[in-house]
Amino acid sequence: MGFNVAIDGPAGAGKSTIAKLVAKEMNFIYVDTGAMYRAIALFLLRKGIKPEERERFATECQDADVTIRYEDGMQQVLLNGENVSGLIRTEEVGNMASASSVDGKVREKLLDLQRNLARDNDVVMDGRDIGTNILPNAEVKVYLTASVEERASRRFKELQEKGVACDLEQIKADIKERDERDMNREIAPLKQAEDAVFVDSSDMSIEEVKEAICELIRKVK
Ligand code: C5P
Repeated sequence: MGFNVAIDGPAGAGKSTIAKLVAKEMNFIYVDTGAMYRAIALFLLRKGIKPEERERFATECQDADVTIRYEDGMQQVLLNGENVSGLIRTEEVGNMASASSVDGKVREKLLDLQRNLARDNDVVMDGRDIGTNILPNAEVKVYLTASVEERASRRFKELQEKGVACDLEQIKADIKERDERDMNREIAPLKQAEDAVFVDSSDMSIEEVKEAICELIRKVK
């Protein structure tokens, strides 16, 4: 069994940035479970399915095979053998992932992949239900969040730096909608595990958050 660090939290809380840094510092692998949901979302979108067509997700996702591999320490997501890592970072795919991850069959498809990675490796795994559902025995659990305003403004800056036209109010509305869906779905909703450490990064630097989590790991390891 590997040493498992679970980081859960809402969209835009900085989970992936932090998880990557923590993994590097500790020499663990970083497992981005959101990317796996995004790969299935891309599969569904390519079939012409829309986020509101919930009844189609379970049957239509059956032929999607998601695997991962590492290149220079970076997680690559493969969808039926195709590396789709560069195609899954759009808002369209993110919104579809949020809609389709509500479905039990979609979640079931990724369960073994996530658990096997944590069994065989020391991992920092981020997502929504890692500490509560996927790795209930993780040695370190963190619930990482920040205010909606802060998360929206970070996302806004990120998109602006990439030269993508965007609207702050629209981003805020999307984040609220995603929070609402992730926290209130029936299967594996986003919530803080009882034994998770709560970290609000609204007024913390990336370095401070990283250090706080590394310190938690050093205490147990
Ligand atoms: O974290 P990211 O934005 O890439 O995740 C995309 C969507 O996938 C989330 O909005 C969430 O609905 C879903 N997800 C999930 N469980 C996870 C990781 C992501 O339901 N462990």
